[in-house]
Amino acid sequence: MSKVSITKSDKGNLSRRNFIKLGSLALSGSALAGTGVTQAKDNKQKNKISYRRLGRTGFMASDVGVGTVGLKEANVIRYAYDKGINYFDTAEGYGSGESERKIGEVMKHMQRDKIFLTTKLHISEKETEKSILDRFEKARERLQTDYIDCLYMHSVKKISRLDHKGFHSATKKLKEEGKLRFIGVSSHGAGGKNDDSMEKVMIKAAEDGRFDVVLFIYNFLNKDAGERILKVCKKNDIGATAMKISPGYVEVSLFDADNPSVSQIEEIKKHMKRGRTKEDAEKRYRNWAKGQQDEIKEYQPFFEKYNIKTNDHLREATVQWVLNSPDMHVTLVTIIEFDTVDKIVPLSGTKLSYGNVEFLKDYDKYLGDQYCRHGCDECFEVCPNDVPVSKIMRYSYYYAMQGREKLAMEKYKKLENRQADSCIECEAPCLSACPYQVNAQFQLIKAHSLLTLV
Ligand code: SF4
Ligand code: SF4
Repeated sequence: MSKVSITKSDKGNLSRRNFIKLGSLALSGSALAGTGVTQAKDNKQKNKISYRRLGRTGFMASDVGVGTVGLKEANVIRYAYDKGINYFDTAEGYGSGESERKIGEVMKHMQRDKIFLTTKLHISEKETEKSILDRFEKARERLQTDYIDCLYMHSVKKISRLDHKGFHSATKKLKEEGKLRFIGVSSHGAGGKNDDSMEKVMIKAAEDGRFDVVLFIYNFLNKDAGERILKVCKKNDIGATAMKISPGYVEVSLFDADNPSVSQIEEIKKHMKRGRTKEDAEKRYRNWAKGQQDEIKEYQPFFEKYNIKTNDHLREATVQWVLNSPDMHVTLVTIIEFDTVDKIVPLSGTKLSYGNVEFLKDYDKYLGDQYCRHGCDECFEVCPNDVPVSKIMRYSYYYAMQGREKLAMEKYKKLENRQADSCIECEAPCLSACPYQVNAQFQLIKAHSLLTLV
């Protein structure tokens, strides 16, 4: 595999459009999951939710759960509940408690013992039993509930964190007081050389004996580690829940100055804060969106082969892929709009079609090397600059896929001297270290361009 030959003088040429060339490939590749669409349509009449036992919690959870990053409209939760979805996932960190607050607004409309409500706290080394109890209490108040079903340690990067004394003593107390039923662990993978991989953290948590539920990245491109984790969960009767299940998109909203979307307005404001005129900011955004769309068009014949035309088609197929695993109990989908509920509910209980199996083969063949696997850390050891590869690609995902541009850029800024600008003059040993043949160097440089708006 040859490394990308990029010099510092090329940096200025690393346009947004070039980023998208790989970025959209990496993301849009998942579009190929398409032919499950037919089956989803068949199930639309059914509109019934299937339930799976959530490991040793014994709770019969809906096979699709509601992820609430970016939740602004509380009644979406109520609507999902009315349709039969009963697993709701939030976190203190989602909008600084805003997602919890919104769920709390409709709590009185849901029969409490019929839902499984989770939230998450980042647990740093310096946290104490008291600080955790305080934060939990605030989360519980925001959620307007007497108890929370499961408290996750959020995004754990080190196995040693699973032994955090303050967390265990606090959660023991909370259980005794009837304010908490179960504990869990989520992981997005390592963030640096001294961290442990998602797989190691999840397997350790599943074998530990103290945790009841785990949440990890699992999708049709990120499947190997997930399948090994699932085996251990099954053996130990641990509840298994999946996130980041739908990498990819196949359509982009172009910018309409007369009718911009909320995220487009925010993006333009950000440019203006940096001293650009409104006109210039709008022009940059328009070019960015156009670049994305042009790149997606290049792969149109491929999408058409699988009858994938919209992001909804794509999502249906990727959700079905995760549902296909009988050992995954809850497939979390970010549901913050009413129509997403209508689109996801018919997928519950559906199976992956033969067409989708074919699609997956094609995906691996043509586009599998464009996707840096979320949570992977295989190339960390060889990086001389300690660049957290998959973490940066995750921030790109937040930016491009979830419309969380501000968060993505803020998180990237915090990486300081571990940002991907150091990839420019690197010999790129990461290329030969990647088992998926991903050209991390090229993608990282593009990600740097996107996340710093240079
Ligand atoms: S190209 Fe970037 S990620 Fe790869 S080894 Fe070099 S600095 Fe690390
Ligand atoms: S570039 Fe390859 S080895 Fe490195 S994190 Fe991404 S998928 Fe893993």
